[in-house]
Amino acid sequence: MKKVTVTALLSKSHTFKRLLSGSVIVAGLVLMLPGTGRTGTVDQPYTVATWRGFTTAAVSYTFDDGCSGQFTSAIPMFDAKDFKLTLFTVTTGGMFPGWQKLADAAENGHEIASHTVTHGDLSGMNSSSQENELRNSQNTINENIPGKQCVTLAYPYCNAGTGSLCEKYYIASRTCSGQVMSKSPSDFNQISSILCGSTMSSRNSVAGINAGADDAAKSGGWCVYLFHGVGNDGGYSGVAVDVLQGCVDYMDNNRNKFWVESFGNVARYIKERNAVTVKETASAANSITVEVTDGLDDTVFNYPVSIRRPLPEAWDTAKVTQDEQPVEFSLKDSAGTKYVTFDALPDRGAVVISSGVVGSRKAAVSGRIAAASVVRFFVNDLPATVHITGIRAPVAVSFFSPAGKKLASGNLTSATCSFSLPVGMCIVRVTDGISAGSDTFLVP
Ligand SMILES: [Zn+2]
Repeated sequence: MKKVTVTALLSKSHTFKRLLSGSVIVAGLVLMLPGTGRTGTVDQPYTVATWRGFTTAAVSYTFDDGCSGQFTSAIPMFDAKDFKLTLFTVTTGGMFPGWQKLADAAENGHEIASHTVTHGDLSGMNSSSQENELRNSQNTINENIPGKQCVTLAYPYCNAGTGSLCEKYYIASRTCSGQVMSKSPSDFNQISSILCGSTMSSRNSVAGINAGADDAAKSGGWCVYLFHGVGNDGGYSGVAVDVLQGCVDYMDNNRNKFWVESFGNVARYIKERNAVTVKETASAANSITVEVTDGLDDTVFNYPVSIRRPLPEAWDTAKVTQDEQPVEFSLKDSAGTKYVTFDALPDRGAVVISSGVVGSRKAAVSGRIAAASVVRFFVNDLPATVHITGIRAPVAVSFFSPAGKKLASGNLTSATCSFSLPVGMCIVRVTDGISAGSDTFLVP
């Protein structure tokens, strides 16, 4: 008997709309077309996500110059939501914040990347001086941030260095000309960012800053933000703490749309996604084997790529492993088709999708209502959300097997209530007596 706790609460989501029309997921699915930088081949019926988790846009929050508020305000704010940011640091001089602060941030998964050694203007240096700045800052960061890799660069003053030198050391380098990048930038030595804070009147409010991410959602692209000062730390172009919090909250409330990741990991993802080959090497009644390769340097390109395929019709559920280790995956309906979506590391062993035979184990389910309009369930880390327009308590909840058999039912009220469900695929239906919505999730 395996017990898992499932909590349900009301919050904002679009899952009900998605189930009705499939449009949200479909909108996030931008198929690779010729001329978009793709070099790998993907077998039918697999799809590689443009952005991790089949989100609509990538958003990177980057912070320059080691301003104190980045450590005291920004990082705790991002940690609270489990979002990862990028700190571009110099390695000498007054803007260097010290290794302990940087190592602590790296420990929490944030990227520590180069802003050169001296904050010098690369565009005004000869080649050997540029290379000293590029190479020495990278080496120093890698020596002082154990287990982490310095793989990206932010140009001081946003003045680009010589591309052929920068790409010798870095997979992507950041400027700040204000545009949202496409899903496949043509020049990784010229990744633009949007400067935010007090020097930019249009990018110094929650709405003004979030407009950049919204633009990325419209184009399916990558929004990179550039911050310096946070709060009253005296840093250049400071952003108020509550403004930054409003932006982070907006990302948190739209996780199905925005993929928030460090600058380096988004760059890794793009290059892997465009190089990846997905090949189905074996297919049996209860098991499918897939090879995911990208031909890139595995010491640098070590970020998972999101892939999906329709679940075979005879299967109620699935489990996914890579190199015999469990892999993060989910089961979702889109436009009437049930998909298994999984994250795979290219070149790290065979991915096996198996039918995950449903056993007789039962899982405990508990839930409660927290607000109005949307019901969100969590089955371990797997979310299932249901939206009902104008929802009112009490909300009746029913769970069904994929074949339509009712498994459990009851009322979600402000108090926690519990259900017991068998392991496997489960359909949840909620209604307040007038409106109704449903979703599918896996009871692990
Ligand atoms: Zn700077």
